Amino acid sequence: MDTQTKPKQQIGKLFIVATPIGNLQDMTFRAVDTLKNVDIIAAEDTRTSRKLLDFYAINTPMMPCHDHNEAKAGLQIMALLEEGKDVALISDAGTPLINDPGYHVVHLLRAEGFDVVTIPGACSPIAALAASGLPTDIFTYLGFLPRKGKARMDAFNTIQVASHTQVFLESPKRILKTLQGLQALPQMGERPCVVGRELTKLYEEFISGTLNEVVTHFTTSAGRGEMVVMMGAGETLVVDDAMIAQALAVKKDQGLSASASAKEVALALNVSRSRVYALLHPAAE
Ligand code: SAM
Repeated sequence: MDTQTKPKQQIGKLFIVATPIGNLQDMTFRAVDTLKNVDIIAAEDTRTSRKLLDFYAINTPMMPCHDHNEAKAGLQIMALLEEGKDVALISDAGTPLINDPGYHVVHLLRAEGFDVVTIPGACSPIAALAASGLPTDIFTYLGFLPRKGKARMDAFNTIQVASHTQVFLESPKRILKTLQGLQALPQMGERPCVVGRELTKLYEEFISGTLNEVVTHFTTSAGRGEMVVMMGAGETLVVDDAMIAQALAVKKDQGLSASASAKEVALALNVSRSRVYALLHPAAE
């Protein structure tokens, strides 16, 4: 479909609308206005979004657009836009597409030349970072960390060697295990750590301190509610031989060959491969 062949005014637009992450008042005037005026709202869970729409007396019909029907929903939305209808995309909370459905729809519509308009608003990683007290100008957002295996260790290494703030999401069930996994890495215990909990809600809380202190907090009080975790960068990470040897041992446990381990460790810790090779032999035995 080529949108260029139709007069512009006959083609609808897709609006990506951020919604609150807890406090229903965190809607912008433009977000309310857009949701009232589009022809249809594509929602991650129409039952969840009903509460928000009722709060703002928005009567626009909804259609589902979630992880399991996104490909089909994308085609339905494209057909609606072709009919000249405007569509808004919302998720259960916060900014759609940020660890929420919507990427495939936006990718499709952009590729096909449709207009996609962004209506910014609440986004939990940004809300957490802004009030964390950690450096904010440069940061890396990691989404949810991989749950196991090499991918998880790689994410831990990324956080360990980062020279700026790292932001990620975690469930209350896994928070302690994840923080303890990071704490087990050399030179991590004294790093700044902030967990933003239940942001914009009644029990909003920021737990901050060194990683060791935050681990102690979650050891004594169970993690509850929704959470964003932020790790500050180390002053300067001094990569010592023990750190390289430990990283090599982890790779060995993962079943990597000696040369593959050396390559990955050198990359992860940002040290020369020759330095890693010099330590490889005892670690690889
Ligand atoms: N798109 C959403 C956004 O913009 O915030 C994120 C969606 S993701 C599926 C849900 C995760 O975001 C939660 O498990 C939690 O880690 C984080 N989150 C959402 N709302 C939160 C809140 N009010 N306080 C802290 N974290 C929150």
